[in-house]
Amino acid sequence: DYALYEAKELSRGIAVLFDRGHEELIRSTKAVEQALRGIDRDRELTLAFQPQYDLKENKIVGFEALARWHSEKLGQVPPDVFIRAAERSGLITSLTPTLLAKALDAASSWPDDLRISFNLSARDLLSPRSVDRILDVVRASGVRAERIELEITETAMLTDFAQALKATSRLSDTGCRIALDDFGSGYTNFSYLNQIKVHTVKIDRSFVLALEQGDHAKKIIKSMIELAGNLGMEHVIEGVETAHELKVMRSVGARMIQGYMFGKPMPADDIAAYLSSHDSDRFKLRPAKLLRS
Ligand code: C2E
Ligand code: MG
Ligand code: MG
Ligand code: MG
Repeated sequence: DYALYEAKELSRGIAVLFDRGHEELIRSTKAVEQALRGIDRDRELTLAFQPQYDLKENKIVGFEALARWHSEKLGQVPPDVFIRAAERSGLITSLTPTLLAKALDAASSWPDDLRISFNLSARDLLSPRSVDRILDVVRASGVRAERIELEITETAMLTDFAQALKATSRLSDTGCRIALDDFGSGYTNFSYLNQIKVHTVKIDRSFVLALEQGDHAKKIIKSMIELAGNLGMEHVIEGVETAHELKVMRSVGARMIQGYMFGKPMPADDIAAYLSSHDSDRFKLRPAKLLRS
């Protein structure tokens, strides 16, 4: 099942063989995998939450949960590094329920209309048992499924389309929203948009970065926003950092933004203060509960 996945990993490996940093990379990869196996999930693993902003309603619509690992042995390890390592070793399918439970626990103290977005790995979708565990966590959390958006990437679809299709339908049948993450950055294949229920496309940060190079990226973003709209899907533009980028996004009809411009990923404990400074009405909804989180 993992043939394509493995092949992609292998080709990456071959590419780095020609890199001078190869030895170092292997050693650190081993160190990361080893430290991951001995991870103390409660103490070392946390989540940061990054706001998603609706430009039309002028309000925060939700937060994306982003994993953070402070390893006792290695110090802070970036998520790109340890998520990849956890995917390679297969550990991800056991980390996902732990992280999801933490994310939903945080979300359960927020105002009830705020969404929580959570990243799933391809591997999470490729076995029915790991989907079972995800659904168990969703049910046990008490958080309404409509508030939960599960982000998936094309990798899952490329690896085993039939299995990924089953998994995403089970998740959306439960009422969870499905987002396509890093949209446009991979081997975007529109055919599966026909077959899976996608609620949101998250337009990859690389398009915002490419704005510097001229008008082309702007046109591409505009087209992707229109594509999403025509298919009845919402969009989120990732990685808007500057007032200029925001202005350009407005000019192409962007509605949802996630980027440093509106907030960096923050600890759960900072969310109440963040909400109160950005939207005081919302904060008044359930102040006691918010302050407790
Ligand atoms: P992603 O899901 O595409 O998350 C967005 C990444 O872009 C985050 O990086 C976020 O901090 C960063 N970002 C957002 N806005 C800006 C901006 O304006 N400027 C810049 N420079 N960066 C911005 P982060 O937290 O390092 O996460 C990296 C990736 O790790 C995520 O990409 C996701 O693929 C993966 N990841 C993180 N947490 C989890 C998790 O719990 N499970 C799984 N499976 N993957 C995760
Ligand atoms: Mg994401
Ligand atoms: Mg993303
Ligand atoms: Mg990304």
